[in-house]
Amino acid sequence: MKNTVRVLFIALLFINGASHCFAQSEFSKWFENKALRIDYYLAGNADSEHFYLDDLREEPFWSGSPNSLIDNLDFGTHRVLVTDAQSGTLIYSRGFCTLFQEWQTTAEAQKLDRAFEQVTRIPYPKQKVTVTFQSRGRDGKFTELHQLEIDPAGIFINRRAMNTIPNYKIVDNGHYSQKLDIAFIAEGYANNQMDKFKSDVKRFADFLLSQPPFDELAESINIWAVASESDGVGPTNPGTGYWNTTATQSEFYTFGIDRYLTTTHFHRVMDIAANVPADLVYILVNTGDYGGGGIYNHFCMATSDHKLSHTVFIHELGHGLAGLGDEYYTSDVAYEDFYPLDVEPWEPNLTTLVDFQSKWADMVDNETPIPTPNSQKYANIVGVFEGGGYMHKGIYRPYVDCRMHSNNANTFCPVCRRAIARVIGTYSR
Ligand SMILES: [Zn+2]
Repeated sequence: MKNTVRVLFIALLFINGASHCFAQSEFSKWFENKALRIDYYLAGNADSEHFYLDDLREEPFWSGSPNSLIDNLDFGTHRVLVTDAQSGTLIYSRGFCTLFQEWQTTAEAQKLDRAFEQVTRIPYPKQKVTVTFQSRGRDGKFTELHQLEIDPAGIFINRRAMNTIPNYKIVDNGHYSQKLDIAFIAEGYANNQMDKFKSDVKRFADFLLSQPPFDELAESINIWAVASESDGVGPTNPGTGYWNTTATQSEFYTFGIDRYLTTTHFHRVMDIAANVPADLVYILVNTGDYGGGGIYNHFCMATSDHKLSHTVFIHELGHGLAGLGDEYYTSDVAYEDFYPLDVEPWEPNLTTLVDFQSKWADMVDNETPIPTPNSQKYANIVGVFEGGGYMHKGIYRPYVDCRMHSNNANTFCPVCRRAIARVIGTYSR
């Protein structure tokens, strides 16, 4: 057994080494080592979605790995595909989620049209490219939302100098092109509170890197802090009538949920994040109140000083970094029928059993019944437990408890840990 594992490991090393050389040259064939940022709006209602271009912008850092140009994860409600305009070759793709899509599932979207700021960054192309935005339907399949032809030499690509904001590398494990770079943005910190911000980031970084699977992958992670100032202290809370002009204009009560803390000012968020190489943008909100939010490849948000802040922080990171779905099914969330039960959800830790083989079937013992009873006997093994994704019936989660299920869990379940490790691998190869 041991020998087999070792042989396999050596074989994997060899394959990785070979693809590494190939992909490096692929990157420099198609891209320059900086980013092209596409600012746009997603607008519509529950049944319609439209793309409106706002701005194209050159940014100094392409923080992603040059060896992860094509996204094989298939996570997200949206994806962007970049093809070389001349040959039609697919040269970059990435899945992501949006606040707009979450809003589309709320009751408000049944009677109102709204527009949400959106940003997509791609490595800066050397030649003309076609950029296709796709949106995933209820059936789980992607369809085209919009297509742009972009000439990277075009005179209207915004090349203004950025707003520079003081920033610090809190955890330094090497060059950003081979690491997961988590960029913390200060939100609700007044200009005399930046020492607190830095020590808060250090505290969250220490916590993160002590938790599985991040502890074992710590050398693959860099952590940055961008000290963006706010006028006053703390985030806006429409529920209590407290309004503050903050760096990212975050607010509690997103979609009417008191603890759901987000911002619709995504362009502003990314203006701040552009100061550092940022694979994952984490907005740290200076308050003792409870709340947060996390959207896959979009941004995460958590508060700094609530007694459960560390727990919320890492839960939201599960959403924002690894596309993990919520494994809970309490009834006070505003989403209505979030998951169709005849479609396999794309989230790696939820299943409708429509295509369970594509999920964690390989991690379930033969003796474990499917579905698995919610009993003490199965409390510490991987199974298929009914209830998850905001629904009691028809959706299944991998473990009785997990950080994606409740604040009582003291670790991610094995399925979530595997998904997180896989995603971090795409940044560090
Ligand atoms: Zn889990």
